[in-house]
Amino acid sequence: MIPHMSNRPDKSKRKELLRRAKRSVQEKALDSLPLPAETMRRLFDMLDEELPAQGCDHSLRLVRAWAAEYDLPTETLVDWCRENHGYCDCEVLANSEEAFLAAMGER
Ligand SMILES: [Zn+2]
Repeated sequence: MIPHMSNRPDKSKRKELLRRAKRSVQEKALDSLPLPAETMRRLFDMLDEELPAQGCDHSLRLVRAWAAEYDLPTETLVDWCRENHGYCDCEVLANSEEAFLAAMGER
């Protein structure tokens, strides 16, 4: 007799529930993105280039300037950055990009 055989269906069911829960968290994160994914990538690419050159002044100066330049909804973007622990330009690159990649299932 194989021990714990009777536990198997429960275990796989639990795994399935976990998988679904994880996916729904990811889907919600994806739905909450303020801009299309490819536009978000351009934001992080810009920060990658501009932060070493200009430094972070502990504000969202670069994020705001970039959004204004491309006529994007600045406040919606800034709200999303803050919700994802990006309170200044360098934190957006360090924290909000992680949240973006997680939403994309790429982390
Ligand atoms: Zn900073």
